[in-house]
Amino acid sequence: MTIFEAFHKPGGVLVYGIPEFRLPKDIVAQEVHFLERQGVKVECNAVVGRTVSLDELFEQGFDAIYVGVGAGLPRFMNIPGENLVGILSANEYLTRANLMKAYKYPEVDTPIPKGKNVVVLGAGNVAMDSARTAMRLGADSVKIVYRRSRDEMPARKAEIHHAEEEGIELFLLTNPTKYLGDENGRLVGMECLRMELGEPDDSGRRRPVAIVGSEFTVDCDLCIVAVGSGANPLLTSETPDMKLNKWGNVVTDPSTGKTTKKAVWAGGDIVTGAATVILAMGAGRDAANSIHDYLTLGW
Ligand SMILES: Cc1cc2nc3c(=O)[nH]c(=O)nc-3n(C[C@H](O)[C@H](O)[C@H](O)COP(=O)(O)OP(=O)(O)OC[C@H]3O[C@@H](n4cnc5c(N)ncnc54)[C@H](O)[C@@H]3O)c2cc1C
Repeated sequence: MTIFEAFHKPGGVLVYGIPEFRLPKDIVAQEVHFLERQGVKVECNAVVGRTVSLDELFEQGFDAIYVGVGAGLPRFMNIPGENLVGILSANEYLTRANLMKAYKYPEVDTPIPKGKNVVVLGAGNVAMDSARTAMRLGADSVKIVYRRSRDEMPARKAEIHHAEEEGIELFLLTNPTKYLGDENGRLVGMECLRMELGEPDDSGRRRPVAIVGSEFTVDCDLCIVAVGSGANPLLTSETPDMKLNKWGNVVTDPSTGKTTKKAVWAGGDIVTGAATVILAMGAGRDAANSIHDYLTLGW
């Protein structure tokens, strides 16, 4: 069977995904509709690994499965006070603000905390997105707190430039050590330490070293944590015969995307760790070619 025939057989190609609101009415929607016109069926609000397993999908008659579940598990700082009201991951903040259109609340059902003094932890592109979103939602001040220097900031230079242009302050060589709350369990600030750069670490970047006695407090009522995200474990934790690396990413053949489980391919962030759209799209194409070979020639 060719991939074209697979698209057109009863049942066809099925794309499982969560959640339904993920399709903005733009270029992504056009891509989805293009695929649907070719016979791809999109099944929303289905959590593979929980509502249905990979083996159950095979039992239902699917011949090959591509896993592209992404790196949606937010990392946190693991410092005291992390459960205070007013601390949330960048994933949640940006999903509410953008996909769920919380900026229109109460016209839409999704609320979003609109801080007056906002701190964003991290210095990648997601941190820049979060900081600029907070500013546009009406914050009086937005600070990016990062433990290394400007030279080590992972965000693109243009993103940093645009963030500063919008009035976002950079608190560099600063590391939060503790969140501070009021009697109602709401965030009111964070304790930080000043850092200096020492010898390079495993990543080749100079390691930030705390300056003893440099503690100071930053007032804030909203903290958005944008310090990276890990492999989404919902599907992989329920698929023991698919090999993972020590970070929980799926191990694949780099040229085909084949996993260690027969007739299962994987690609994108769940394989590489958080990366880029273009890499995820490339992985999908490589896997599609390999799936075509499998359907026509075998494993
Ligand atoms: C805030 C932010 C900004 C970014 N900006 C850029 C940018 O400007 N340029 C760029 O190139 N990259 C950017 N990236 C990175 C880019 O979004 C990712 O690298 C890319 O989307 C990875 O694609 P993917 O298909 O592997 O996973 P994703 O796009 O994350 O898709 C995974 C999908 O699988 C679904 N899913 C998860 N678990 C299950 C399950 N068990 N069952 C069914 N469905 C499941 C999820 O709901 C999701 O829809 C950004 C990322 C973030 C978080």
